[in-house]
Amino acid sequence: MKNAKTIYLDHAATTKPYDEVVSLYAKIESEHYGNSSSIHGLGIDALSFLHKARELVLKSFNLLKGYKVIFTSGATEANNLAILGYCLKHANRGKHVITSNVEHPSVLECFKHLESLGFKVTYLKVNKDGVVNPEELSKAMTNETILVSLMSTNNEIGSINNIPELTKIVHQYPKAVFHSDTTQSIGKDKVNYSSLDMFVVSGHKIHGLKGSGCLVLKDKIDLEPRVFGGGQEDGLRSGTVAVGLCCSLAKAVSISQLKISAESQRISKIHQQFMVKLENIEGIEFNSNQASSPYILNFSLTKKKASVVVEALSNVGIYVSSVSACNSKREPSSYVVSALGKGEVASHNTIRLSFGEDNTEEDAEIFAREFNKVMESIR
Ligand code: PMP
Repeated sequence: MKNAKTIYLDHAATTKPYDEVVSLYAKIESEHYGNSSSIHGLGIDALSFLHKARELVLKSFNLLKGYKVIFTSGATEANNLAILGYCLKHANRGKHVITSNVEHPSVLECFKHLESLGFKVTYLKVNKDGVVNPEELSKAMTNETILVSLMSTNNEIGSINNIPELTKIVHQYPKAVFHSDTTQSIGKDKVNYSSLDMFVVSGHKIHGLKGSGCLVLKDKIDLEPRVFGGGQEDGLRSGTVAVGLCCSLAKAVSISQLKISAESQRISKIHQQFMVKLENIEGIEFNSNQASSPYILNFSLTKKKASVVVEALSNVGIYVSSVSACNSKREPSSYVVSALGKGEVASHNTIRLSFGEDNTEEDAEIFAREFNKVMESIR
């Protein structure tokens, strides 16, 4: 039997857009549809909305001075622009770069590409809690290091890197900049954004629209363009600007950043409820811990197949993830859980619950009941 209520526990994969975001998008696209590069009235009108969107993003992070915004299609494109754009522009300064072994594919694949271009890449191993030890970063830095990219919150297990410590180390080297894949922190976990040189936003993770996102970076940083053409977005990303998407993104950033304190406290309580319920269930091993983001709770099944459990839960209207949405179709095993030093069984059978606006403490009770039933019914 299906639950009367659907329980969505996959907010790290994507979120339902806010009504205000959808209506703003529709309004801009229907009433202010000019090309922001046109010099007539309708173009100037669209351009003014684009300016406002850029300002609202910066204001939401308290970065109105010294930072700029390049709108992109999401965090994947923004990570590519930051990492490849920076390294290709400044290869003459040094060819050593650093990242970690639990980054999202949109970061890891950039580093693989850099390796093919002759860069030396250091992949820092995370500790058993899924975070980079600042001492390891210190040891890896050289005078040839030009870029370090370390995520703030991990998308699979919710581990949070010590960004202030890590940036301090990188900034002791004048040639090096610090980029962070902040996709899973925006609007959720508090980050000191002013300590970062570059960071990214994905609209659809914060109740914005799919296809919207941006790179935020210090004014003085020059990048190599990734898309050539008419020179939009500071010449870095040519193509007619989707002003409606940019405005919708700014709206989503502003709402979610404003709610951060109250909402993260509420989510912490929900997280706690789930932990309490799950602790009593046999055959689970936690991959997240108390220091992890309250928005993500990851565990492995020691006796059941995660994909079967995910499907059985889906049949009763409970939506969770196995591995992460980006990887689950490509690779059945989690390289993130494996990086924690867990065995084959654990990394092949992970379940990720990711919480958000529509979850309540009551969901923990329903989840535990249905999860228990599923665990008993499958072999
Ligand atoms: N980085 C992280 C940590 C993510 O979780 C995701 C989304 N799965 C991305 C980057 C890519 O985001 P987008 O879907 O906006 O390209």
